[in-house]
Amino acid sequence: MTEHAPKISFVSLGCPKALVDSERIISHLRAEGYELSKSHAGADAVIVNTCGFLDSAKAESLEAIGNALNENGKVIVTGCMGAEPDAILAAYPNISAITGPQAYESVINAVHSVISPAHDPHFDLIPPQGVKLTPRHYAYLKISEGCNNRCTFCIIPKLRGDLISRPANEVLKEAEKLVKAGVREILVISQDTSAYGVDIKYAESQWNDRTVRAKFVDLARELGSLGAWTRLHYVYPYPHVDDVIPLMAEGLVLPYLDIPFQHASPKVLKAMKRPGNQEKTLERIKAWREICPDLAIRSTFIVGFPGETEEDFEYLLEWMREAKLERVGCFKYEPVSGAVSNELGLAQVPDEVKQQRWNRFMETQQSISAQRLKSRVGRRIKVIIDEPGPTVSKGRSQWDAPEIDGIVHVGSRRPLRAGDIVTVKIERADAYDLFGVVV
Ligand code: SF4
Repeated sequence: MTEHAPKISFVSLGCPKALVDSERIISHLRAEGYELSKSHAGADAVIVNTCGFLDSAKAESLEAIGNALNENGKVIVTGCMGAEPDAILAAYPNISAITGPQAYESVINAVHSVISPAHDPHFDLIPPQGVKLTPRHYAYLKISEGCNNRCTFCIIPKLRGDLISRPANEVLKEAEKLVKAGVREILVISQDTSAYGVDIKYAESQWNDRTVRAKFVDLARELGSLGAWTRLHYVYPYPHVDDVIPLMAEGLVLPYLDIPFQHASPKVLKAMKRPGNQEKTLERIKAWREICPDLAIRSTFIVGFPGETEEDFEYLLEWMREAKLERVGCFKYEPVSGAVSNELGLAQVPDEVKQQRWNRFMETQQSISAQRLKSRVGRRIKVIIDEPGPTVSKGRSQWDAPEIDGIVHVGSRRPLRAGDIVTVKIERADAYDLFGVVV
């Protein structure tokens, strides 16, 4: 046994799903008496939770591993890149341990072998809701792991396996603990949120005095009843998504849908093998907005997918002009090693063409976003405060998720705290953000 509490330095890279994995690992280690170190140098070991989705993310992960080795020397690698140990060992043969994504047990075992725990295991050191890496007033809630789809550009199913849904009562129990601990906004994440429960045949489980099915809409309704904002991420436009829109209109779930459409051209979508690929998506978006006029849709797109012609790209721009999505991100296609899209025999789009298309896409979307935001000016809306300031605080509207969407700059005479939900009169807008005052 070590005499001082052993200290771990933690680097969490990648998407919100990886962040949830990091939280679980840290919660477990804290329960065993490990402490978190602010610097690599002051720690007994470093854990790097890597992202291996794009080559650029792999490079960032390798750089983080290199820094940890230089500054500390004892490094445990986990996360998506852990599924490719050879690539890591080729660059850094002196790694203490490498474990794959969601291999919590192996990460914990690896930590034990590098530096053993030093405490009374009966002493409960962690708060009941676990350790959260996000600010206390919002938290990510992971409802499933893995994915049954096989989008040709994506290696996540290879890294994380097929869909495994958590039972509905387990998800709700975690959500309730979070809300009791002060969380005011729950961000539901997974690889494919609308597919929730398919693998467990929508199994029923007992939650308080009732039975809840492990189904997207049922779960959304229950989460929405807990009293915190509920935001749905990574939803695919399957037909049953229509059922969640009335819950948004009622105010039970935030009027926000994060749907990664990725493209609009039927030919490109087919080559991408996207789930829920429907020709009538534009009509459905229109119908959703009729039911819930306040709905904000956020999405991501890929330009320069192999075989994408100028005609396909023009089709996408035209679709964007019609769909008028509120928030949009755009990536240039990267031929991720191991992805099926590289083997389709389709012509690669030259880098300079990808760049031009990306510029044109962003220009088109910028004016759409600006128009959408302008339409909010003059309204009184609810804003959750993220960063309080002396006279102006930063917050988000129901249409903005943390990190990826815009900010509401809130002027206030009285001091505000993080997590406060206030009513704000919107006075002006720019291309990304809103500006207003507390009323
Ligand atoms: S839905 Fe497609 S892009 Fe998303 S994780 Fe599954 S395979 Fe990858």
